Amino acid sequence: MSAIIDKLAAIVGERGLITDPQGKHPYLTDWRENYLGAALAVVRPASTEEVAAVVKLCAAERVAIVPQGGNTGMAGGGTPDQSGREIVLSLNRMNRILEIDPIGYTMTVEAGVVLETIQEAAAQHDRLFPLSLAAQGSCTIGGNLSTNAGGVHVLHYGNARQLVLGLEVVTPAGEVWDGLRALKKDNTGYDLRDLYLGAEGTLGIITRAVLKLWPRPKDTATAWIAVPSPEAAVALLSGAHAASEDNVTSCELMSRQGIDLVLKHIPGSVDPLAERHDWYVLMEWGSTRPRRAGDNASGLAEKMEGYLGEALEAGQVLDAAIAQNEAQARAFWALRENHSESQKREGPSIKHDISVSVSRIPAFMSEGLAAMKRVLPECRPVPFGHVGDGNLHFNCQGPPGWDKARFMTHAHAISGAVYDLVVSHGGSISAEHGIGQLKVDELAHYRSQIELDTMRTIKRALDPQNLMNPGKIIRV
Ligand SMILES: Cc1cc2nc3c(=O)[nH]c(=O)nc-3n(C[C@H](O)[C@H](O)[C@H](O)COP(=O)(O)OP(=O)(O)OC[C@H]3O[C@@H](n4cnc5c(N)ncnc54)[C@H](O)[C@@H]3O)c2cc1C
Repeated sequence: MSAIIDKLAAIVGERGLITDPQGKHPYLTDWRENYLGAALAVVRPASTEEVAAVVKLCAAERVAIVPQGGNTGMAGGGTPDQSGREIVLSLNRMNRILEIDPIGYTMTVEAGVVLETIQEAAAQHDRLFPLSLAAQGSCTIGGNLSTNAGGVHVLHYGNARQLVLGLEVVTPAGEVWDGLRALKKDNTGYDLRDLYLGAEGTLGIITRAVLKLWPRPKDTATAWIAVPSPEAAVALLSGAHAASEDNVTSCELMSRQGIDLVLKHIPGSVDPLAERHDWYVLMEWGSTRPRRAGDNASGLAEKMEGYLGEALEAGQVLDAAIAQNEAQARAFWALRENHSESQKREGPSIKHDISVSVSRIPAFMSEGLAAMKRVLPECRPVPFGHVGDGNLHFNCQGPPGWDKARFMTHAHAISGAVYDLVVSHGGSISAEHGIGQLKVDELAHYRSQIELDTMRTIKRALDPQNLMNPGKIIRV
């Protein structure tokens, strides 16, 4: 084994190699601490050429590679197995922004750039990179593209797949595919770019990307809204598209259970409304049209206030607060963004990142809550998520005082009930987090034979030795 370590060191240097157990540890477990793997080494190349050389060496020595970005994935896709024979290939030293083209609305970056750094760089040029999620301070663009990440702006701008023009990829043979094109139109055969997006590192390693930029919103309105039911939330959103002149940029649904956990575990959290309610919507409108001083009617906040007033009369809204300044808007957002963290602090939970069509959300919600309770009456459902995309994090918190081992004995039955229901509504068992190692069995169970066969054929053709993140997404 030391022979391959020496060869890896010759490629990436001392700085690019971690072999001591303490140094490796953070790369061997996932954010949710569901998995703990082992690895021969953590390899941190500093350039595409180094990535290619590492992959070529691994192909020759038949060593499997687990690509990793910020390691914030929710499905264990970036965690190695327990054999200790795989390497983790971390992109975190490849963190340069290579070019910003404000005229053409593009940015070219290395795969290890942290998402928030990209957002800030775009803002400095009066542009917007709209991908936004609670892990943005540590997740990387390579991980975002490899999981086809969603987040809170999908309903207006699309998911990661829609935010990228070109890619550079190192193939499982260690060749470099230069698809780093900033083209809006390119109909030249099979779309290789789309193949690598969302592939969770099973087909190759994304090393660079050309991203799309948008004009930066100049006027934003953010409201914290109590609604009587998920049905009212969906109706409120439906009307908001026209009322905002198609400017709804986010629409998040939360339940009282989720808010109570945030208030309990995240210091400084404050409930924006005086009364307790069962359901909340966080809605944001954004426009590139600057707000004109002295012209109140032109502001989005005033338009939103008018719309929410009508909805209040119609019984779709019970109470609402519109943020008066940026700090207040950030406080509203913190209540949403701290959902995952507060559930982690509360104890064990089972996560279901599912989607159904938006109009099916109300029926799915009531049937799904009942289904979880039927399996384990003491469980605590905490549904929340991107209602504008039909994507719910239909999570289930363990009963108070239960440890993880005890709660997990019910995981299969609870998740089975949820996924069966999702499929009966024509939905998806993984909306934005991917399959990783978490849902390999579920994918095999719920997807059709022809889809699975086609995926396996692609995997075998591109990675015949099965060395690129083996055991993730699909077994070959
Ligand atoms: C608090 C919190 C909130 C979150 N909210 C959201 C959300 O709203 N929406 C959402 O979609 N996700 C969300 N996530 C999940 C996670 O942040 C995303 O999946 C993110 O895109 C992962 O990026 P990463 O750099 O951390 O990737 P990692 O976790 O390191 O890797 C994820 C997968 O991509 C592969 N990979 C990583 N980099 C590369 C590369 N360069 N080339 C090829 N394969 C690669 C890995 O092998 C793995 O399979 C959240 C996570 C947390 C912790």
